[in-house]
Amino acid sequence: MGLNVIMMGAPGAGKGTQAGRFARERGLPKISTGDMLREAVKEGHPVALEAKALMDRGELVDDGTIIAIVRDRLTKPDTQPGFVLDGFPRTVDQAVALDAIMEERAQGPLVVIDVVVPEEELVRRLGSRRICGTCGANAEPGGAVCTKCNGELVVRSDDDGQVVVERLKVYERVTRPVLEYYRARPTFRFVNGAQAPEQVANDVDSMIDDAAGSGGPAKVAGKRRTSARAADQAEA
Ligand code: AMP
Repeated sequence: MGLNVIMMGAPGAGKGTQAGRFARERGLPKISTGDMLREAVKEGHPVALEAKALMDRGELVDDGTIIAIVRDRLTKPDTQPGFVLDGFPRTVDQAVALDAIMEERAQGPLVVIDVVVPEEELVRRLGSRRICGTCGANAEPGGAVCTKCNGELVVRSDDDGQVVVERLKVYERVTRPVLEYYRARPTFRFVNGAQAPEQVANDVDSMIDDAAGSGGPAKVAGKRRTSARAADQAEA
C-alpha cells in the first residue's frame, strides 16, 4: 500500500512548499503539474506553448492535457511507494479521473490535505513571492539568490497583479468544488496554513499520518495524534 497524498490549497497557501518538504522527508516523488508545465514550456514543447498563454493569464490548462500528463507520470516506478500531488486535481473532472487511476493502481487510499489561508494573506504572499529564474525553486523569503543553485531570483510571470486576482477567482470558481468532492472522505483533513511555517509542517505531518491510518492499512511510521477534524467530530 502506498502513501498517496494530495496537497490542496489556493495559490500562495504554501502547498508547494509543504508538498516538497513532505515528499523529501518521506522519500516520495513530488508531482507538481505547474512545475511539469513550466518545464515543458522551457523545453519549447509545442503543446506547452499553448499552455503558456493560458498560464500567463491565470487560466487553467484543459483537463484532457493535464489528466494525460498525470496518468503517464503515475505509471513511473518511483510512484510505487506513493506520491505527493501538488496542483492537481484542480477541477472536479480531474478528481474523478484521478479516482479512476487510483482504482486501477489499487495501492491504498488518497489522503487529501487542504492548506487554508485567508485571502488577504494569499494576495500579500503572492505579491512578494520570488522564484529562481534558473531552476524554478521557490526562494527563501528575503533571500538574494537561490539557495539551491545560486540562480537569480525573479517574479513568477503569473504572480503579477491582475493575474493573481484571476488565479484566485479561478480557484474559487473551479477548484473549491474539488474540496467539496473530497470533504466527506475519512482521509480528508485541513491545516491552518497561516501559522508559523514549522507549525504548518507539524500539522501537515500529523494530519497525513492520522488520515493514512484511518484510510486503511497505509498507516506510516510516526506519532499518531488526534486530528483537529476528529476533535471537531467528537464535539459535534
Ligand atoms: P501552479 O504552479 O500549480 O500554481 O500552476 C501554474 C499554472 O499551471 C496554473 O495557473 C495553470 O495555468 C496551470 N496548471 C497547473 N496545474 C494545473 C491543473 N491541474 N489543471 C489545469 N491547469 C493547471
